[in-house]
Amino acid sequence: MTQAPNLVVAIDGPAASGKGTLARHLADLLTLRYLDTGSLYRATGLTVLKASGDPTNEADAVKAAENLDLSAFSAENLRSEEAGVAASHVAFIPSVRAVLLDFQRSIASNPGVAFKGAILDGRDIGTVVCPDADRKIFVEAALEVRIKRRLQELMERGEPVIEARVRADMTARDQRDRDRSVAPLKPADDAWVLDTSNMNADEALAAALDHIRGTGPL
Ligand code: C5P
Repeated sequence: MTQAPNLVVAIDGPAASGKGTLARHLADLLTLRYLDTGSLYRATGLTVLKASGDPTNEADAVKAAENLDLSAFSAENLRSEEAGVAASHVAFIPSVRAVLLDFQRSIASNPGVAFKGAILDGRDIGTVVCPDADRKIFVEAALEVRIKRRLQELMERGEPVIEARVRADMTARDQRDRDRSVAPLKPADDAWVLDTSNMNADEALAAALDHIRGTGPL
């Protein structure tokens, strides 16, 4: 019996670019298994903080990544900016990235029989995790737009909204993600760049679907 083709879609981009919402919608529409790889780094960062460790310390961060517990993924503050900052510190450490790599690749290559493939979102999916992905989309948006989106998201979750803090955290986090030596945030050479600055979620989804469907059979 020939195996059904496994479509792998890589979505990368900076914080609050809209990549998570886009990836979730694409996953639903195309019956793809969705993996939010940022949640792996967030769970690792929060696990370090919970153990009173230091997210910039390699031993603390590797230990947390190696012993990730499912409960870390349901932590109330998983989506908080504090978790995002801790995530970007542990993500800076190459040995932490190495620990989390196999799991990400296993989802891409083995999404499960209920799915037609997998869609992973993160920072290095098209460049490192799935360099052979069938489709690579790099989602961009202007910094001011991304800050506005994050403020809106925090407000909707009833979290404290301090614009200067969000701006400082997001700028520093982006810079750490772009400047690190291993798996920096950047479009793969063969990625399609989608700028969502002037798009709402539906428009971004329509553009991404056109791209995915237009560049080859599914
Ligand atoms: O996407 P999200 O904002 O949840 O990611 C949190 C942090 O995790 C990012 O700022 C980045 O430092 C790290 N990350 C990464 N590689 C990925 C996904 C996330 O370095 N593939």
